[in-house]
Amino acid sequence: MTTAKHSTQVNAVDIAIVGGAMAGATLALGLAKLSVSLKRTLRIALIEAHVADHNHPGFDARSIAIAHGSIFELSRLGIWSKLKHLGTPIENIHVSDRGHFGMTELNAKPLGLDALGQVVELARVGKVLFDELAKSQVNVFCPAKVTSLQPQQNGHLLSLDDGSQLHCQLLVAADGAHSVVRQHLGQTTEQVDFEQTAIVANVITDAPHQHWAYERFTQTGPLALLPMQSVPSVASAQSRFSLVWAVSPAQADELKQADKTVFLDALQHAFGHRVGRFVDVGQRVSYPLTLSYMPRPIYHRCIFVGNAAQTLHPIAGQGFNLGLRDVVGLLEVIETALTQTQGEVDLGNIQLIHQYLASRQRDRDSTLRNIEFLVRGFSNQHWPLVAGRNLGLRLLSWLPPLKRPVAQTAMGWR
Ligand SMILES: Cc1cc2nc3c(=O)[nH]c(=O)nc-3n(C[C@H](O)[C@H](O)[C@H](O)COP(=O)(O)OP(=O)(O)OC[C@H]3O[C@@H](n4cnc5c(N)ncnc54)[C@H](O)[C@@H]3O)c2cc1C
Repeated sequence: MTTAKHSTQVNAVDIAIVGGAMAGATLALGLAKLSVSLKRTLRIALIEAHVADHNHPGFDARSIAIAHGSIFELSRLGIWSKLKHLGTPIENIHVSDRGHFGMTELNAKPLGLDALGQVVELARVGKVLFDELAKSQVNVFCPAKVTSLQPQQNGHLLSLDDGSQLHCQLLVAADGAHSVVRQHLGQTTEQVDFEQTAIVANVITDAPHQHWAYERFTQTGPLALLPMQSVPSVASAQSRFSLVWAVSPAQADELKQADKTVFLDALQHAFGHRVGRFVDVGQRVSYPLTLSYMPRPIYHRCIFVGNAAQTLHPIAGQGFNLGLRDVVGLLEVIETALTQTQGEVDLGNIQLIHQYLASRQRDRDSTLRNIEFLVRGFSNQHWPLVAGRNLGLRLLSWLPPLKRPVAQTAMGWR
């Protein structure tokens, strides 16, 4: 683990990133690469409260699907080549509506692709990203927490819980849904509570996954299964899936505490037999599902990215995919600022902040709208909605050209 020199004097940096999980760590690595490729010295600090182990809140037991478009961006940043060995390709996605006729498939081959996306385990990703950060020029403060910050005319002064202080021109908040930076700056979010809780667990089935992912809309909320890499303890004819199952908060408590057999029976009943029989389940963790977002994820010399800017329902697996597009958008405006000026550049200047805001608005707004529509539309049992969504799924099956725009959105192509 890298730890920067903790001194009582103020460390001056160009950019300080608070939060070193998926968004913050990829941004720090992207900035380090930019600095090398443009031959410009960027002083970058990354402050992360937790070391990358199994108790880390951002690199926990979850697996996430990284869309095809995000793999492309991670490759451009030189990060995917380090993570590739951890990925399980998704070659097909099956979408269905429990108890109704609607179902459709998205397949990689007709789109000329090897995979629609890749599934990775966050705990393993965290270790790789921190190893890469240790080799980079990024000054990593970890474990260290930002405890207070003071906006100043030329930047922000951050105080850390180890007693050190940092001054930055540009502050990037990548500190998640309960962003401390946002609270210190008195910024608020708009919230939608879906009154759903996600049960997340790894499950084993008695049939091979053959690189299929599944999304099933049930009365309580969506149920997703992502294919995972095999491990020695799992028989070769069986497969591992990462389960995300949205249910009511009361049901979530019951399911979390239920005996293994009761849980597996309930899951089998909700999902059906498309992946064979569910034979085992690992630790069950729950996450309350809300959508929260900052309409303007900026402040004086400060930019919010990833979950700090918006926290999505995992229905469409878009949280990190959208967060990565924030990161890429920010890297682009910084690259432009650096290439347009030869000498010193003030990276916290107001034009750069507003360029970032403008560049992200359309993508953020449309992703948020689509997700709210999906959650509300597919968790509702009013018959016109049920009929409409089933017809929609059927149409996608019957008219393959309609699938391309849906697939493009799902794969995060910009
Ligand atoms: C059940 C579930 C399934 C999901 N599936 C998918 C999926 O399939 N595809 C997808 O793209 N997304 C998915 N997501 C969303 C995705 O996991 C998140 O969008 C992403 O991990 C958020 O990363 P982040 O870095 O923005 O924030 P976080 O992971 O919240 O990280 C914030 C970091 O900031 C640190 N921090 C906080 N306060 C301080 C402080 N004061 N000082 C220093 N550090 C601080 C924390 O320790 C933490 O490491 C899913 C989410 C859930 C809940």
